[in-house]
Amino acid sequence: MPEKIAIVRCPDYSRNTVRKAIEKVFELLNPDFSSEVLLKPNMLSARGPDQAVTTHPAIIEALSEMLPKPVYIGDSPPNTQKSIEHYWETCGYKNASLKTDATLVRIEGQSTVFNLNVSGRNVSFPVSEFALKKPVFNLPKFKTHNITVLTCAMKNIYGLIPGYPKGLLHTKFPEPEMFNRFIVELYRLLQDRIIFNIVDAVEIMDGNGPASGRKRRYGYLIAGKNAVCVDLVCAACAGLKISQIPFLRIYTGAYEIPEIKVVGDSPEVMKDFQAPLSSFIFRMQNSGMFSKALRNLASQLNIIPVINHSLCRKCMECYNICPAKAISKDLKIDRKKCINCLCCFEVCPHRAITVRKSFLARMILP
Ligand code: SF4
Ligand code: SF4
Repeated sequence: MPEKIAIVRCPDYSRNTVRKAIEKVFELLNPDFSSEVLLKPNMLSARGPDQAVTTHPAIIEALSEMLPKPVYIGDSPPNTQKSIEHYWETCGYKNASLKTDATLVRIEGQSTVFNLNVSGRNVSFPVSEFALKKPVFNLPKFKTHNITVLTCAMKNIYGLIPGYPKGLLHTKFPEPEMFNRFIVELYRLLQDRIIFNIVDAVEIMDGNGPASGRKRRYGYLIAGKNAVCVDLVCAACAGLKISQIPFLRIYTGAYEIPEIKVVGDSPEVMKDFQAPLSSFIFRMQNSGMFSKALRNLASQLNIIPVINHSLCRKCMECYNICPAKAISKDLKIDRKKCINCLCCFEVCPHRAITVRKSFLARMILP
């Protein structure tokens, strides 16, 4: 049996439009839901819904009305310095819960520690106990990402690791290739928890996502039971090849993928989709053009964060999140300590951190 993935037109976030689009998804795929699901949006940052950084609250609200009660809403943002209430309020989820009686939950409370061996590297990390007890309804935002190139269904599961340990995991896997391998194994560990995925591809972000890219309208929901197949369809919609998206390249190289059958609408491939700055470098590193002797050189082809002090408002979010303690109190980045995880770039609420090619990348790449 082929794995069905639904693409359904949803031109805007008005209540009726979103509800009708979700009804169409359910009609096409006929999923079977129990009660007590955890709606897991992408709540990366305390940004308003108009910025296309987080999953739009209209989708949360519609599902909270449509699914069997009780319904829970929860995600754990990487920056734990601000209260979770601030995130709920700013992202629009508090309002969605008040309108529908869904319960907002702190999934960063109790956790269970798991161990994984990723390509010979052992790592321990916590996973939210709440998410382990409830069926997870995965609600990612369609965005680019400078470490994973695309962030949709599989990467959204990273949010089930509570708060600051998410950042610390970058110190275990500072190389983008290894971090993407971790994302694959984390997904495999938790895949049975995910009952369904709906990607918010109504307004998406391309360019240098996941928080400072370009917002653009696509106007679709992309849904299915299998997160890998959902991500493969998302990649095709963006006109990206599997070889350009590290975690999909790794997954499809190691594990079986079912045959995919796309049902519903047939959107055009996005025109002028901007991949993040890192994608070209990743492709070169994995092209086989670097011999073993030059591997070390290839690893220095990087994307690095740069603080624009004229835009900086000294909120200290970058300082607080940096897992390598590479940012000083006067907001200077120590290049020797920096592991290029780009957590600072992701959390800066004022777009005061940009990314650029490392010195070596500027020298030898176009
Ligand atoms: S660079 Fe951004 S995150 Fe860091 S202190 Fe300035 S405004 Fe805040
Ligand atoms: S300075 Fe930014 S990119 Fe470098 S380690 Fe810290 S958070 Fe990561």
